[in-house]
Amino acid sequence: MSQKRLLLCCDMDRTVIPNGAQPEPGGSRELLADFCARPEVTLAYVTGRDRALAAEAIESFALPMPDYAITDVGTVLYRVQGGEWIESPEWMQHIAADWPGCVHEDVAHWLNDLAGLKLQEPDKQNTYKVSFYAENASPVLQLDVESRLQRHGLHANVIVSLDESSGTGLVDILPARANKYHAVRFLQQLLDYSDQEVIFAGDSGNDLEVLVSPIPSILVGNATDAIRREATQQSEAAQTSDRLFLAKANYAGGVLEGLQHFYDHV
Ligand SMILES: [Mg+2]
Repeated sequence: MSQKRLLLCCDMDRTVIPNGAQPEPGGSRELLADFCARPEVTLAYVTGRDRALAAEAIESFALPMPDYAITDVGTVLYRVQGGEWIESPEWMQHIAADWPGCVHEDVAHWLNDLAGLKLQEPDKQNTYKVSFYAENASPVLQLDVESRLQRHGLHANVIVSLDESSGTGLVDILPARANKYHAVRFLQQLLDYSDQEVIFAGDSGNDLEVLVSPIPSILVGNATDAIRREATQQSEAAQTSDRLFLAKANYAGGVLEGLQHFYDHV
């Protein structure tokens, strides 16, 4: 082991949480927890979940407690210490620059007359995350929302999606830089780690930007063929193929396989 320290950044759902259709290799989560307990390893979860749902998954799936957690689709960064989750004011200040002088209430107000939009429950909202249910989650709606926010001088990322289990349209509005890639970069710089001291693991579309970046990254084996193809093509185009590891094993097993590849051979 030549490396002194490692910042391991892991997506949660279907990366360390085995909540997909594929089976989990037996004992892999326990081995990953052992690895994360090493003193030279700092663990960060990077997830769309909010704090409560992240904590719930840690408990029910016996996941290792992280040192940091980037939650709510990248809008909140916590330092986790002795069971306490402490929000980083630095990250909040950083993403606030995309919404000069505006917060949740302003954005909600500017959009409240758009047909078919209804604000989600309060626990789905925060200062820099505005989430709606949408009757018709279409590209037209996305353009409408984007053009309104641009008129108010916001750099926003508008994510329109469909909750396939309920068939409900969802619209998430975030500062443009509140995404997994920027959050991982921010944490890396905050802790002063080099690219060689960071490893990321993920499985799906919102992990793609990190997967194909210069940060050494693991795509777990249970990812879809479409994501594997996309990650391979984009990393070739970005000349970062040597920093993308396509694991064969699923979930935590895939993370361990990638750690073996990057960490034990650097
Ligand atoms: Mg995932």
